[in-house]
Amino acid sequence: MDPKAIFHHVKKKERWIRDVLRELVQQESPSEDRQAVNAAMNLVERIAREDGARPKRHKQREFGDILELHFGPSRSLQKPVLLLGHLDTVWPIGTLAQMPWRVADDRYWGPGVLDMKAGVVMALAALNALKEINLARPATLLLNSEEEVGSPVSRPITERLALESSAVFVLEPAQGLAYKTARKGVGVYHVQVTGVGAHSGVDFERGHSAVLELAKQVQAISKFTNLARKLTVNCGVIAGGTRSNVVAANAYTEVDVRIAKASDAAYVERLFRGLKVSDPRCKLTITGGFNRPPMERKTGTIALFKKARSLAAELGFTLEEAATGGGSDGNFTAALGVPTLDGMGAVGDGAHAAHESVLIEHLIPRTALLAAMIAGVE
Ligand SMILES: [Zn+2]
Repeated sequence: MDPKAIFHHVKKKERWIRDVLRELVQQESPSEDRQAVNAAMNLVERIAREDGARPKRHKQREFGDILELHFGPSRSLQKPVLLLGHLDTVWPIGTLAQMPWRVADDRYWGPGVLDMKAGVVMALAALNALKEINLARPATLLLNSEEEVGSPVSRPITERLALESSAVFVLEPAQGLAYKTARKGVGVYHVQVTGVGAHSGVDFERGHSAVLELAKQVQAISKFTNLARKLTVNCGVIAGGTRSNVVAANAYTEVDVRIAKASDAAYVERLFRGLKVSDPRCKLTITGGFNRPPMERKTGTIALFKKARSLAAELGFTLEEAATGGGSDGNFTAALGVPTLDGMGAVGDGAHAAHESVLIEHLIPRTALLAAMIAGVE
């Protein structure tokens, strides 16, 4: 397997990549819109079928479908490689009016172009190239519709397929120019304070303010942050009370928690359960917990990264490695002990932001690297 030969073959697909990416970006697909995500799913399924993939569609009621695509020989002694992608975006229908698909400043622009429609198109191009140069091996491309809302229904499918695979490649955008070998785990807690409501003029002394109590809880919760431990706690939302002349009966905060070590999930859980009210007439109700375990930097992942780095060197570029605080579906597979490499999609800027764009110059080298990794993993 010669990565340069793969590169030259992938290079011929430059136009194809652009055309498919444009079509996919122009099919808006917010997680909340089942029909829209399914239309994007149909587009990818059609292309994959033309390429000889064997599709399996997991129909969903609440979200868009989950598409499992099998590439390469149907009978093989080799375990498949699992490629993970999502077709949903954070952008509501109508975003294209303000953020149209365009090609400018050496970039492709548009909602979802970086996160992660380009990654999906790169995977299709890589698998197609491997087939054309007789390097196809068993590979599964799994595309879900609800990654941006935490992958509530696709998680068990992702986990089952990961356990059948020798490695997992995640098509999320690169971190700068780097592949991701570690991700933080993500938790969300909802802390509700119930106080005693009263008229602030007539009955002030009878009231026990949930707002005041919440303010103290926010202080206490924020102290859980431990930067040396790479543990962060963010009270991102607070709300409470009804009117200025009412002592508030209710208030709450929504808290985002990030951990680098799996064992910190239990530690954080204990901290939340240990919260105490300072006003004994107020009551705390704590719900939530961890959605994604951390992707820790482990041996299998390091070996994958080293392989990618040496293949990149053969392709003429330096590949770096990074850790990130953001979660992906790679968190689930890494936590099961399956070697997982993340950030193998496009290079660009502005995921979830108005300047979302992909740098064109990196698309072909990164697609070639992805193809070489698919071909080269045991
Ligand atoms: Zn993403």
